[in-house]
Amino acid sequence: MTVLIAGAGIGGLTLGLSLHQLGVPFRIFEAVREIRPLGVGINVQPHAIRELFELGLEGALDKVGLRTRQLGYFSAQGGEIWREARGEFAGYHWPQYSIHRGEMQMLLYRALLERAGPDVIEMGAAVTGAVETAAGVELALTERRTGAKLGRVAGRVFVAADGINSVTRQALYPEEGAAQWGGVMMWRGVTRGPSFLGGRSMAMAGRKDCKFVCYPIEEYEDGTCLINWIADRAMPAEYVWRAQDWTREGRLEDFLGAFAGWAFDWLNVPEVITSAESVWEYPMVDRNPLPRWSHGRITLLGDAAHAMYPIGSNGASQAILDARVLARELRDLGQGAEALAAYDDIRRETVNKIVLANRGDGPDKILDIVAERAPEGFENIHDVMPQEELEAAAGAYKKLAGMDIEALNARGPLVPVSI
Ligand SMILES: Cc1cc2nc3c(=O)[nH]c(=O)nc-3n(C[C@H](O)[C@H](O)[C@H](O)COP(=O)(O)OP(=O)(O)OC[C@H]3O[C@@H](n4cnc5c(N)ncnc54)[C@H](O)[C@@H]3O)c2cc1C
Repeated sequence: MTVLIAGAGIGGLTLGLSLHQLGVPFRIFEAVREIRPLGVGINVQPHAIRELFELGLEGALDKVGLRTRQLGYFSAQGGEIWREARGEFAGYHWPQYSIHRGEMQMLLYRALLERAGPDVIEMGAAVTGAVETAAGVELALTERRTGAKLGRVAGRVFVAADGINSVTRQALYPEEGAAQWGGVMMWRGVTRGPSFLGGRSMAMAGRKDCKFVCYPIEEYEDGTCLINWIADRAMPAEYVWRAQDWTREGRLEDFLGAFAGWAFDWLNVPEVITSAESVWEYPMVDRNPLPRWSHGRITLLGDAAHAMYPIGSNGASQAILDARVLARELRDLGQGAEALAAYDDIRRETVNKIVLANRGDGPDKILDIVAERAPEGFENIHDVMPQEELEAAAGAYKKLAGMDIEALNARGPLVPVSI
């Protein structure tokens, strides 16, 4: 009898790879017929990269991602607020990667097929119902496009890693409704352009209601790079936002004007925006923290459990940590309700705090404080914010998200594997 998983996203695939590593039988059911490299760039933090390295994926990650060197915060006038090294460059034993989300999903998918064989994933099978039985769980499978019923499948426990619109979460919390929009729209794109800030750098400029985030996800021999960028704008309360869809095209006229004067000496923002191959629009949505993820033999993982604003680069990272902890508990406590309850106890409170911190702009809060104190910019950042305050702001989120450098380097592996 096996662990049944809904969703072959970053969370579900990492869980599959981890269960395979630990010798726990599992099967994944994925709604789409074919995994395609959708989405744009994401950052995956050292605490999660450590887990992927412990799954033997270091070489594969280097082929598709860039090891992020530094991160900088800037005012809307382009003035430098704070700059810090990232990943190994900051002293972590593991890197941070800036990576195309779809390429990363493909990497995990290919690794799983190579290691565990094609039978562990059933494509084109959406999980549309889950019930506990005397012996375990039973799932109902459906072909999404036609609505055709594909039958039922039995297992020991069920993990819903089916993303922000999880049907299992909806069944467990029928009152909850759709994901919540906090008033900010994001336009995202990729542009081939000049390397900036010395290369492999992540930059955030502006403030919550008008912010530009960018980082390279690929480098070319001629010194240019593929810049992944996100332009955030707060929209009026009456703005009619359309439900989230990662592939919806955006229109320049909806946001370009807000960034018109942002030609900094380190990057020309309007030029980056207008030179993009394509632009996608997405509302910044999340879901309220839940009082419980695990219900008997059924649990939630990744975005299904804790969809958060994409601030602080922790969405995919926390899904990976969920997967590792859950796999360990399923090995150590057996494939039953006890393991799911332990996973919930270990992970939920911490991740719920990250969801709430991201509502308050997470580590980017520093931008809002500086913009409030110096709306027209500054000559010297220390006239606006003393060094100790800058350092405290940068350190607090890292502790909360489990990525404090010393603590992460010092702790043992999340999943001890006996050789
Ligand atoms: C197409 C797509 C594009 C994305 N693009 C970005 C991006 O550009 N930037 C960013 O920061 N984040 C993006 N994300 C979100 C990001 O991947 C997640 O926040 C993070 O990786 C956590 O992943 P997850 O595995 O929990 O969920 P997801 O990555 O959302 O994966 C969930 C998986 O479950 C499948 N699924 C859904 N319902 C069912 C069902 N009922 N039964 C079976 N399978 C089901 C989905 O097809 C998907 O493969 C994207 C997600 C998707 C699905």
